[in-house]
Amino acid sequence: MAILEVAALSGGYGTLQVLSDITFVVDQGQQVVLLGANGAGKTTLLKTVVGLLPAWQGHVKFGGDDVVHWPTSRRVRAGMAFLSEIGVIATLSIEENLKLGAYYLSGSQSRQQLDRIYQQLPLLKARRKQAAGSLSGGQRKILGFAKALMGQPRLILMDEPSSGLAPVMVNELLGLLETYRRTGPAFLIAEQNIKFLQGADHVYVLDNGRVHFDGSPEELDADTHIKAAYFGLT
Ligand code: ATP
Repeated sequence: MAILEVAALSGGYGTLQVLSDITFVVDQGQQVVLLGANGAGKTTLLKTVVGLLPAWQGHVKFGGDDVVHWPTSRRVRAGMAFLSEIGVIATLSIEENLKLGAYYLSGSQSRQQLDRIYQQLPLLKARRKQAAGSLSGGQRKILGFAKALMGQPRLILMDEPSSGLAPVMVNELLGLLETYRRTGPAFLIAEQNIKFLQGADHVYVLDNGRVHFDGSPEELDADTHIKAAYFGLT
């Protein structure tokens, strides 16, 4: 069952068109990667899906509802989480940040989520009373991820999670994604790092605001033309 269906979507900034005729699907619990180089339109696409930018044409269906005219706040309440670093408040403690991520859950649900997160991320538990600002950039990203999970969203949109992360933190993030595979929310991950294909259910390659490839990571790996054209790989 699809959680997100994007059909014939176009959009951009002012009169500058960036996205053209984009169609893709994310099924419930799937981890889908939107792969593309700098400037391919990944951020623009995620922002249009979550409603931070208007769609010029096309549809965005979320959980069966056409949300294309809904404000971002309504899409978020319906279970869409857009992960950005701005979401972490440096002066609040790690635990306060996590609780903020679940502000609309009941007290007991919030505590349950907190326990689950602390089990998976003992580092956050050990430092729960410290200000989030004391974390390294990479750890702060992990906290942002955990904060998004706290709200039990149905879909998490991640914009280049690997950017600025040391390889060890990228691996930590990949491990975390692995633990949520199939049992967690669906993920739509915009990336240029092909490491994120490991374990992904589906991949869309974006270039110049259009989808140029749609298939499994194995199919992409076998497609020498796409690999050479977009990633300089042979
Ligand atoms: P990156 O990895 O660099 O973020 P991206 O795939 O996310 O790349 P976008 O940021 O969506 O790409 O950019 C797609 C196009 O839209 C680029 O040509 C970019 O110059 C343009 N663009 C991005 N933001 C704006 C903006 N605020 N106003 C006008 N044009 C923009």
